Formats: sequence, structure tokens, C-alpha cells
Amino acid sequence: MKYALVTGGSRGIGRFVCIELAKLGYPVIINYCSNETAALETQNIIQENGGTAELLKFDVSDAEQVDNAIMQWQENHSDDYIAVLVNNAGVREDTMMMWMQNEQWENIIGIHLNGFFYVTRRMLKDMLTKKFGRIINVVSLSGIKGLPGQTNYSAAKAGIIGATKALAQEIGKRGVTVNAVAPGFIATDMTQDLDEKTLKEMIPLNRFGKAEEVAYLVSFLASDKASYITGEVISINGGIYT
Ligand code: NAP
Repeated sequence: MKYALVTGGSRGIGRFVCIELAKLGYPVIINYCSNETAALETQNIIQENGGTAELLKFDVSDAEQVDNAIMQWQENHSDDYIAVLVNNAGVREDTMMMWMQNEQWENIIGIHLNGFFYVTRRMLKDMLTKKFGRIINVVSLSGIKGLPGQTNYSAAKAGIIGATKALAQEIGKRGVTVNAVAPGFIATDMTQDLDEKTLKEMIPLNRFGKAEEVAYLVSFLASDKASYITGEVISINGGIYT
């Protein structure tokens, strides 16, 4: 059986990605870091709609936790493999670079860039052997154009964009695609401290995006319809020019 794993699937964009992938027919593995209540809510929504979902707790920035959780899952699912991976888990810790502490830099690089690496490398063997896989990385407008106050976050997301392009070339011959989606401002817990009224003035569509709108794009990239797209970074930002 082919499964889909969504890191940070408990809330925000990740929750809607889980819901959309379940609609594609995938049993979904909902990863979360600490908010089990939210992860259970995502699982309930999927199950109420006839889908299948299970929870898998690990901190993507902790290589040992990632390895243990994934090895355990693989041992319990000897006939299954994770065919779709969505690297979505993330946080922001914004501050001007001159005030930025080592921990603020390391934490953001650790969760986004190291997290991408720790999780993705453990999926590759199965995907390459089965000659099918879809890897979708949720990056950001910030990783394409850079945003002031986010040197840590912009660097991490730009790093994932580079890795997306390199990995796509590394494994394309084995039927595995690797793409990135780059959202602009999306209404989730992550952006609730931002002033939409002011910021929407720079967005041609004049509003923040919805988490489900990003999930539709991720779901398309995971589907058979996107079989000839790889190494791409697709913006979904209401028309902000990048
Ligand atoms: P969100 O609503 O704050 O949700 C963040 C998710 O990431 C939660 O499921 C959280 O799990 C999980 N998470 C955080 N740290 C983790 C860790 N160390 N290990 C595992 N899971 C972890 O955020 P969001 O807005 O949906 O963001 C999702 C992705 O989109 C992120 O990569 C973000 O950078 C990117 N993005 C968002 C926007 C935006 O405007 N919202 C724009 C561009 C890009 P818990 O529930 O357990 O805490």
C-alpha cells in the first residue's frame, strides 16, 4: 500500500494537505511535534470523510527522533511504503539580523532545512526501489525574494529550494519527482500576528490566501496529473511578483 506522510500535518496548511491527500485515496500519516489535540482533529476530519489516517509524532529537527519514528513505522508496515512526502513542518522566529541570536538562526535552519534532509533521506530507498515517489516541499515567498526580519527563515527556505532542484535531477530517472510550492501570506496560526489590512495592499488579489488553496496545489503535484513536473518551484501568493 502506498502512504502519504505530511510533516506538520496537525494544523494550518499541513492539515488541509492531509485532507486533500486522503481524498486522492492515500492513507495519510499525520506528523506533529507537540499539538496532539490538533493532530487528532485532523485525523477525525479525514476519518469522518471515509479516509484513513494515523499519527506519527516526531520533531523534524531531531535526526534521532526522525530515524526512530520512521524505522518503527517501516517495521510495522513491511508491505507498505511512503510514496508521497510533503515537507511542511515549520515555524517563524523573526528578528532583524543585528539582533538575531545563535539559537534563532539554528532553530529555524534546524526545523526547515535540516528537517527536510532528515526526513527526506529516509524515504528515498523505498521510492527509488518502487520507482515511484512524490516529494513536495513547502517553501515560501521569503525563500525566493527574501523578506526583511527573516534572514534565518529566508536562508532556510532558499536552501530547500536549492536542494529541491538538485534532488530532482538526482532521482528523476527512477520516477520520483521533487517540487516546491512557495506560498505568500496564508491565514494560519503562523501569520495570526501579522496585520492583513496593511499587508494585503501589496497583494494583487488583495487578501491573504487560505490553507486549503495551498493544499489544492500540493495535491495536484502529488497526483498522476503532475507526472511530468519536477524540479519546479511554484508560487502561490495572490500575484506578488517574484
Ligand atoms: P502553522 O499553522 O503554524 O503549523 C505549523 C505546523 O508545523 C504544525 O503542524 C506544527 O506541529 C508543525 N511543526 C512545527 N515545528 C515542528 C517540528 N519541529 N517538527 C514537526 N512538526 C513541527 O504553520 P503553517 O502556516 O501551516 O505553515 C506550514 C508551512 O508553510 C511551513 O513550512 C511554513 O514555513 C510554510 N509557509 C507558511 C506561510 C504562511 O503564510 N502561513 C507562508 C509561506 C510558507 P504542532 O501542531 O505539533 O506544533
